[in-house]
Amino acid sequence: MSTVVLASGNRGKLRELQHALRDTPYNLVPQGELGVPDAIEDGQTFIENALIKARHGARLTGKHALADDSGLVVPALGGAPGIYSSRYSGKGDKANNDKLLAAMAGYQGEQRRAWFICVLVFLSSADDPAPIVAEGRWHGFIAEDIRGEGGFGYDPIFVIDWQGRTAAELSADEKQTLSHRGQAIAALRAKLGA
Ligand code: IMP
Repeated sequence: MSTVVLASGNRGKLRELQHALRDTPYNLVPQGELGVPDAIEDGQTFIENALIKARHGARLTGKHALADDSGLVVPALGGAPGIYSSRYSGKGDKANNDKLLAAMAGYQGEQRRAWFICVLVFLSSADDPAPIVAEGRWHGFIAEDIRGEGGFGYDPIFVIDWQGRTAAELSADEKQTLSHRGQAIAALRAKLGA
C-alpha cells in the first residue's frame, strides 16, 4: 500500500474518493490527519487550484498527494459559483443551495443548465515535474427545490435526468458511474495504471 495524502478537508470528497480507490494500492489519508492546514486557493481556474493544493500537501508531508478541485458552473449566472462553489454563501452547503436557488428564480428550461467539473491532480512529490491531471464533467440542470439525502454540496439541487432525479437521490455507486468525480477518477486510474 502506498500512502497518498488527500489535499482536502472536504468529507464528501474524501468519502467518494476512498470508495472509488478502495481496490487500488493507494491508501488515501486526509491531510488534516497529518497536521496539514488548508492551502490558500488563489488560482483563477480549477486546475490551478488543484495543483496548488496537491503541491502544498506533498510539500508538508513528503508523501504522494492527490488534490480534487471541483465545483458547479451555471452558464446563465456567468459561470458562478464556479471556483467559489464551496464558499458561495460563506455559510456552508445548505446556505449555498438556498442562495443558488434564489439566484435562479425566474430562470426556466435551458436557462437552468449547469455542470459539475472535477479536476484531480496526482503528484508523486512536491517537485514532481509531470503531474497526472484528470478531469470529468457532469451536465444537468438546477432543480426548483431541494431533494434527496445522499451525496454532499449541491447534489440536492442538481437534476441529472428527465425523470427529475437529483444527484442526492443516487446511490454511491450510481453517482460514481455518472459524476464528474467518477469520470475523473476513471481517467486518473487509467493514467496511474491502477
Ligand atoms: P473545493 O473544495 O474548493 O474544490 O470546492 C468544491 C465545492 O464544489 C464543494 O464544496 C461543493 O460545494 C461543490 N462540489 C464539488 N463536487 C461536488 C459534488 O460531487 N456534489 C455536490 N457539490 C460538489
